[in-house]
Amino acid sequence: MLDPNIEILLTEEQIREKVVEIGREIARDYEGRELLAVAILKGAVIFTADLIRELDISVSIDFMAVSSYGSSTVSSGVVEIIKDVDIDVGGKHVLVVEDIIDTGLTLDYLLTHFRSRKPASLRVCTLLDKWEARTVEVPIDYRGFFIPNEYVVGYGMDCDQKFRNLPYIGILKDFV
Ligand code: 5GP
Repeated sequence: MLDPNIEILLTEEQIREKVVEIGREIARDYEGRELLAVAILKGAVIFTADLIRELDISVSIDFMAVSSYGSSTVSSGVVEIIKDVDIDVGGKHVLVVEDIIDTGLTLDYLLTHFRSRKPASLRVCTLLDKWEARTVEVPIDYRGFFIPNEYVVGYGMDCDQKFRNLPYIGILKDFV
């Protein structure tokens, strides 16, 4: 499934190894506690599905959908909640699971939103960290990879809803 417009950045194998590593770390940190993993739709779905299967602890999942980009690729800075979690996060150990943190605006908004609901604890896990694009400081507790400031697709991440099914992560070439 190789697309000529996509340059591989992280292979399936590299991703798998990292997911196992992060999973071990999270399982160790949350041992004896009930974890609520909140996946941010849609991009984090595949990462979350793989990650929770590495967790040898009690874990439940919920989903939240926010829009910050629409179909364009430049962060608008405006974050809107499209779907909220179903579970009351009050008193829960919440782990927000993101595919990628870019400007940090989405996560910053989400953290404020969650904090106001008084969880027992609140942490962040992201597979990718596009640190050069950051405009707002955000705390990251579990991070897969630092990546360059390029538009990436695959392993759940899209460009106009395409490429989410790629098993690897690649840079979309000739992208404007
Ligand atoms: P931020 O608010 O940090 O700028 O953007 C976070 C969201 O923007 C991510 O959860 C993701 O949905 C989207 N995003 C940022 N960079 C990329 C990228 O390189 N590729 C894709 N597919 N989505 C991105």
